[in-house]
Amino acid sequence: MELEKKDYTPRPLAKPPAGAYPTTMSRKFDPELLYVECHQCGQPVLWKHGLTTKLLKLAKIDPSTLDERCVILSEGCPGCVPDETSFTTQVIRLNREKDDREPMPAAVN
Ligand SMILES: [Zn+2]
Repeated sequence: MELEKKDYTPRPLAKPPAGAYPTTMSRKFDPELLYVECHQCGQPVLWKHGLTTKLLKLAKIDPSTLDERCVILSEGCPGCVPDETSFTTQVIRLNREKDDREPMPAAVN
């Protein structure tokens, strides 16, 4: 793990390819692996290691309820709002593999 010189340094961050995380590993998900994207300009945001955990704690979000399908959206980043040093963030869950259809009640009596 390399050290960041600044607290909040934007730089390109590739989205992890699907299936990048082995499912055979333990269920514990490291919130620091969450993908962070700027909602304003759409650029990936990489911030200081540990900040995601801190944010989740502040937002009273249990990291164990998150997985690699969750992303963090930042309302602005140093790239598009250079004057700001803190940004509102929200955690969203991607539901691309939506498979929660309600079984249709079949009246077959
Ligand atoms: Zn931005």
